[in-house]
Amino acid sequence: MITASPAGRLSPAAPDWRELWRDAVTDAHELLRMVELTHLADRLPPADAGFALRVPRGFVARMRPGDPRDPLLLQVLPQLAELDRAPGFTADAVGDLAAREAQGVLHKYQGRALLIASGSCAVNCRYCFRRHFPYGEEIAAAGQWRQALDHLRADRTISELILSGGDPLALATSKLEELSRGLAELPQVTRLRIHTRLPVVLPERIDAPFLAWLGALKLQKVVVLHANHANELDAQVDVACAALRGAGVAVLNQSVLLRGVNDDAEVLAALSERLFAAGVLPYYLHQLDRVQGAAHFEVDDARALALVDAVRARLPGYLVPRLVREVAGDASKRPL
Ligand SMILES: *Cc1c(COP(=O)(O)O)cnc(C)c1O
Ligand code: SF4
Repeated sequence: MITASPAGRLSPAAPDWRELWRDAVTDAHELLRMVELTHLADRLPPADAGFALRVPRGFVARMRPGDPRDPLLLQVLPQLAELDRAPGFTADAVGDLAAREAQGVLHKYQGRALLIASGSCAVNCRYCFRRHFPYGEEIAAAGQWRQALDHLRADRTISELILSGGDPLALATSKLEELSRGLAELPQVTRLRIHTRLPVVLPERIDAPFLAWLGALKLQKVVVLHANHANELDAQVDVACAALRGAGVAVLNQSVLLRGVNDDAEVLAALSERLFAAGVLPYYLHQLDRVQGAAHFEVDDARALALVDAVRARLPGYLVPRLVREVAGDASKRPL
């Protein structure tokens, strides 16, 4: 484990994040034992509903034992409801396949290109809009990023490169170094943004070699975390966020509005306050992408708007996330 010294530095005795990654819980029965809910075993879908269970042990430790409605548990535990076929919920909910321009490159919005840097995640979120994405063929990191870099070189309009996935920090730091060497040939790219859930679910990933890579980058740097509930943040996440900021990174957070997890004004306000305590600003609150198997998480637009209004009435404006939906073909995320 990373241990925070009083000065907030990372302990050199921290175990390698890859070990913690491999040691993640992948068996639903084991997860239920860990959170003292074995009586829920008969409510599990057969096998894993086509999307494997995966959750790091450190994240399980933040769940409340004995609580079947724990907001962290609900994000990762396979449910029978995933087998329901709801109208309008499809495999490619946000038009990713149509926006593909080269291997692992999605270009939907002006000035920003998004790389599917990795198909792996440390945690499998049941509501994930990419749960059916064909990652096998679509990884930008394949072949030393060559296709992606060639594509970017030819497009002078792209000033911001977004690493997404999957989780881009699933890649070894050496693979990220390879990318930054390639980026040196692309003067038009002035910002690097990383969309990652790892500093939240496996904060040990923010280790000294990674921070050295990040700190040395000659670009403006943004990390957009993904946390949906204040309980996801603990002291180790605070250390990871402080280290990111120490490396010159602007740290933001995006959440997904999820029924049963955070569809409550108090919960959303507490999340914003907790993020800010970690030095993180809320950015987007996403309406759920209508991906097959996730219909039971949906909150309708009228309630979503009322929730954000209630948050706005409680908090300073900079702690109110923008409520948006991704609509295939739009020029930006669509504000509600
Ligand atoms: C969401 C998204 C972005 C980022 O949009 P911002 O509004 O800049 O955060 C960029 N590219 C793609 C393909 C996206 O899905
Ligand atoms: S970390 Fe992000 S990409 Fe990975 S499963 Fe969760 S929501 Fe999906």
